Amino acid sequence: MTSEKTNRNVLVTGGSRGIGAAISLELGLAGYFVIVNYNHSISEAENIVKQIIDNGGQAVALQANISKADETERLFNEINASIGTVDVLINNAGITRDKSFKKMNLEEWEAVIDTNLSSVFNTTKLALPAMLDQKYGRIINISSVIGQSGGFGQTNYAAAKAGLIGFSKSLALETAKSGITVNTICPGFIGTDMVNAMPEEVLNSIISKIPVNRLGLPSDIAKGVKFLIESSYMTGQSLNINGGLYM
Ligand code: NAP
Repeated sequence: MTSEKTNRNVLVTGGSRGIGAAISLELGLAGYFVIVNYNHSISEAENIVKQIIDNGGQAVALQANISKADETERLFNEINASIGTVDVLINNAGITRDKSFKKMNLEEWEAVIDTNLSSVFNTTKLALPAMLDQKYGRIINISSVIGQSGGFGQTNYAAAKAGLIGFSKSLALETAKSGITVNTICPGFIGTDMVNAMPEEVLNSIISKIPVNRLGLPSDIAKGVKFLIESSYMTGQSLNINGGLYM
């Protein structure tokens, strides 16, 4: 362990892989009790939990498809019964279904909106009452540079990610007097399964446009999350961690 245990519980949605796994690890090693949410990747989620516990931290893996309100309610019932309140909520789970708008069907639109945007309604709705009662809370929504700049073949994804920015600023206004901060992080292109699934020539073309000339690391985003949790005076902001891709 790099620091003392805190008395704060953190829920990381989609904490099993990629950026969410790095956030879970960073916060677990910093002394938070980490609830590693996953949908399908049980062994990856359990591996993150094991790494945290092996280093003297506290963590548990809990399954729920957070795009579904009823599954999210079940998740929070489990958390409230066996762990306590969610003091820090990291809305990280996300998917892509890239296609030009002309070819995109309603199913591809809804899958991305439900997973990347409506899930944030589901989790925040259930986490916020306890945060308001205890006058402490941190909500960090993982948006994207695509929500700021747009992305070819990504109308669904850009709409969801831009939506998170507006959602976060509005909720930040509503909760600022209650000791709660709400911020977004807008990562650029980070080397995870999501980005590695892109065709090599597309990826190379993207990298050539990034001023630092490489993909970001999941740990770059995790460090930003830790910074936002520790700040009580930063709210309603978007933290851009993108290698200079969008300034
Ligand atoms: P990733 O490697 O594909 O991992 C996605 C994670 O989300 C997995 O842990 C997955 O869990 C989880 N997930 C997906 N749908 C879920 C659902 N319905 N319920 C619960 N968990 C769900 O993606 P990533 O690159 O780490 O991306 C993480 C976040 O950062 C996403 O919101 C993404 O949009 C955003 N982002 C990524 C980049 C990038 O360059 N990678 C850039 C900007 C923003 P299971 O495997 O268990 O299903």
